[in-house]
Amino acid sequence: MSFPATSPFPVPEDMDASLVSEDGKSLKRKYRIRDLTGMVFGRLSVLERDENSKTGQIRWKCICTCGNIKTVQASNLKNGAAPSCGCLKKEVLSRKKKRHGMTFSREYHSWQSMRQRCLNTSHKSWDDYGGRGIKICPEWLNSFEQFYQDMGPRPEETTLEREDVNGHYCKENCVWATHRTQAQNRRNTVLSFDKVNLLWKLKEDGIAMTEIAKMLGTSKGAISGVVYGGAWKK
Ligand SMILES: [Zn+2]
Repeated sequence: MSFPATSPFPVPEDMDASLVSEDGKSLKRKYRIRDLTGMVFGRLSVLERDENSKTGQIRWKCICTCGNIKTVQASNLKNGAAPSCGCLKKEVLSRKKKRHGMTFSREYHSWQSMRQRCLNTSHKSWDDYGGRGIKICPEWLNSFEQFYQDMGPRPEETTLEREDVNGHYCKENCVWATHRTQAQNRRNTVLSFDKVNLLWKLKEDGIAMTEIAKMLGTSKGAISGVVYGGAWKK
């Protein structure tokens, strides 16, 4: 395929208009097509001229960094309208869809499960979580990004655990814990309905929460979970 040095299509943005005809007198200006071979536009590197479009637009065959070959109009290369073979647009779209790109990560699974337990009234564990007043802090409620920023990567063999099992899901009360540490937490802070009733009586009598915790053999966190957090609702 060969192309004439001059083009019958006067498309100035695609061409150098600096040349005049050899005699220097002719009113007809000659246009020389600007050679884009080897030039890089975004992800596209120009390989060679391709056939003009049906409307006479100059086109170049390009190779994308992803390996695709694509024929692109010169004007679209130069004005940035075609920064790739189309792969860039696809990537941006899928990034928007996934946002954080961690949809299938362990951490995301933990975040989703937490929300299920606390928000979904038909979840099998609802009664032990949302159903008894365990809440998710506002920072984490609708933001996996914030959750991940606060908790960091989840080590293998661990799950999301509240240090105080009557406290809420928030940065201060959560750790990635192995099953063994979880069991210990449970033993340390376990409350019963009897204890909770006693707790409220002591609270109404004006006993400090640290004192109540000592009397009930549990942590201050567990007490405040009940008093302020809505755990073990009356
Ligand atoms: Zn591409």
